[in-house]
Amino acid sequence: MTATVIDGKAFAAKVRGQVGEHVARLKEVNGITPGLAVVLVGEDPASQVYVRSKGKMTVEVGMNSYEHKLDVDTTEEALLKVIADLNADPAVHGILVQLPLPDHLDSDLVINSIDPAKDVDGFHISNVGLLGTGQKSMVPCTPLGCLMMLREHHGSLSGLNAVVIGRSNIVGKPMAQLLLNDSCTVTIAHSRTKDLAGTVKQADIVVAAVGRPEMVPGDWIKEGATVIDVGINRIDAGLTDDGTPKTRLVGDADYESCAAVAGAITPVPGGVGPMTIACLLANTVTACCRANGLAEPEGLTA
Ligand code: NAP
Repeated sequence: MTATVIDGKAFAAKVRGQVGEHVARLKEVNGITPGLAVVLVGEDPASQVYVRSKGKMTVEVGMNSYEHKLDVDTTEEALLKVIADLNADPAVHGILVQLPLPDHLDSDLVINSIDPAKDVDGFHISNVGLLGTGQKSMVPCTPLGCLMMLREHHGSLSGLNAVVIGRSNIVGKPMAQLLLNDSCTVTIAHSRTKDLAGTVKQADIVVAAVGRPEMVPGDWIKEGATVIDVGINRIDAGLTDDGTPKTRLVGDADYESCAAVAGAITPVPGGVGPMTIACLLANTVTACCRANGLAEPEGLTA
């Protein structure tokens, strides 16, 4: 079997298009422009890149983008004041604090200071609880993107066996919860799982969110299963002609061998990655609609 490649880049463009249509309607019919505020503390290069592309795409779909760049030595008190001001600002419908924060700041405290209704990352303890009890919540962007791709590919997920490898609060746990809410039979695997290969072999859906390059080989995958590869790992790729070291991005699944067995697979890059920012924009529109008592956009929430 040769797997269908799930094109996350194209899917993300479609989601951004839907978000853009909703934003245009909100402006025209309701006179409301959704706004997303991103708070970046420090100068971590990867975070700066993410924040820049979030800002660019926010503006591209017609929303207002507010960026708050704070010094690396910003005090907790000062950061909490910025968040309190954003919580109180009616023009801001979504707030995202870029992680990781510098070590002197308590991430849990900071995230839990965001108004849950504006917590477009879905990390606030209230949203985690709402998701866990199957209630309306803000859903973490990366797992939401994975869910959208799975629903698009499978239609109903009801009754399918899903194995999520990884139990982080950002990806693994919310992913498992979403799959459970869609009536999958869910197993969460992690570094202490005995017989990981045998566990994965049972799965109709495998979500790999580990952070170990090409860890999942094709012979762990059941014939025809769907592989959603969340991993983003940069590995050495030899030298250029002039001797400069090269790198390339790979996922947590060994793409070639998994694609030979799977029914469908997301590539890295171009799979889950682009869906994350698209879902952040979707969450901001959802938050804006909820804040204004308007109907939520269809197909953009869990
Ligand atoms: P994380 O917090 O480091 O969690 C990794 C998980 O993998 C942990 O639960 C860990 O188990 C488990 N694990 C580690 N080694 C394992 C092994 N040998 N066998 C089985 N499980 C093992 O990572 P994360 O934040 O969830 O991210 C995971 C990957 O997704 C990373 O590559 C990250 O870059 C990527 N990511 C991508 C996006 C995107 O937009 N596409 C977004 C977020 C993250 P224990 O809990 O037992 O230690």
